[in-house]
Amino acid sequence: LATTPGVKESHLNKGTGRVPVGLGRRRMRVVVTGGAGFVGSHLVDKLLDRGDEVIVIDNFFTGRRDNVKHHFGNTRFELIRHDVVEPILLEVDQIYHLACPASPVHYKYNPVKTIKTNVMGTLNMLGLAKRIGARFLLTSTSEVYGDPLEHPQKETYWGHVNPIGVRSCYDEGKRTAETLTMDYHRGADVEVRIARIFNTYGPRMCLDDGRVVSNFVAQAIRKQPLTVYGDGKQTRSFQFVSDLVDGLVALMESEHVGPFNLGNPGEFTMLELAQVVKETIDSSATIAFKPNTADDPHKRKPDISKAKELLNWEPKISLREGLPKMVSDFRNRILNEDEGKGN
Ligand code: NAD
Ligand code: UDP
Ligand code: UDP
Repeated sequence: LATTPGVKESHLNKGTGRVPVGLGRRRMRVVVTGGAGFVGSHLVDKLLDRGDEVIVIDNFFTGRRDNVKHHFGNTRFELIRHDVVEPILLEVDQIYHLACPASPVHYKYNPVKTIKTNVMGTLNMLGLAKRIGARFLLTSTSEVYGDPLEHPQKETYWGHVNPIGVRSCYDEGKRTAETLTMDYHRGADVEVRIARIFNTYGPRMCLDDGRVVSNFVAQAIRKQPLTVYGDGKQTRSFQFVSDLVDGLVALMESEHVGPFNLGNPGEFTMLELAQVVKETIDSSATIAFKPNTADDPHKRKPDISKAKELLNWEPKISLREGLPKMVSDFRNRILNEDEGKGN
């Protein structure tokens, strides 16, 4: 594999013999499964920006070509329509394994498929990593903590998960994916990394994926009431997508297996979130209370001391700074949708 082209010897630090980061770094060939999705497409942007070759594997269940179309024509970018439940042969240095529906509406749509994606999909990507000696990163989730009895959640907490509920296909699926990852690490010496991602938002989220931030932002733009489920006192911690992507890359490049919580510790009730959305988009927006869904975790907030200490990572963008950054993307897409309907 090549070193970054165009790096002159004068850029090398002759004193230490080390190559400054970003100049002489070996160009990596990287697979991003789920790379046409929300988080994956932002990760792809970052990897291509730093000079890597990127292969996206996606079955377009929730992902969209639009999310990566700005890279079509880039010779370092390749998009493969493929379902990770089926085996695949590739030669790469790193595998970021994101493929899996993430919003409750999507992962409950076909729960058995969600389990197959988490178990067989992760198994195939670990088998691939083992065969070619690639480093493998799993995007796990804060849902492995279930409806947590410890607050905030540390990586040492084993969780409180209903194994037979409607969310189990996702949270038990991800727990099994973590187990598989550790067993390939221990049993086959695969270099692995595990990230436990907390609620993340930003441009390119699906408009109607049912997640609370995308729902509230789309509702405020469409002049519809913001739907608060239950009493709205349940909490979540919301991370802007660029902070997450920085954390994923820092983890992949680090020497630590994890698991690491990657999330923003700022904690908000859904009513507080509705208030921030009103302040950001439309102060006259109203709220409509709806019944909550089954097994909804009451609270969630990451303890990120481990990532701070070992990865030197922490989120930089607060909810009030991040929300406006997704509004123009949502406005444009909602406008296009309306035009498509002939409105
Ligand atoms: P997303 O739905 O936007 O992206 C998932 C991508 O995976 C989509 O492009 C989808 O088409 C693809 N995919 C799904 N099943 C597949 C399969 N069987 N084969 C190939 N491709 C498949 O979701 P996201 O928010 O970008 O989430 C990415 C990852 O991060 C997921 O693994 C998710 O569990 C994890 N995560 C996300 C969040 C969050 O708040 N966004 C929180 C915790 C964990
Ligand atoms: N696999 C894959 N690509 C590869 C290597 C393996 O998709 O390059 C799949 C393989 O088909 C299998 C899974 O990964 O379903 C696990 O592979 P492993 O070699 O660990 O196990 P085995 O094939 O011995 O069951
Ligand atoms: N929620 C809400 N209104 C909505 C969508 C979700 O009040 O329109 C609530 C939901 O009940 C949950 C929280 O927002 O308590 C976060 O839900 P989301 O689906 O975004 O993610 P989760 O953390 O549950 O995976």
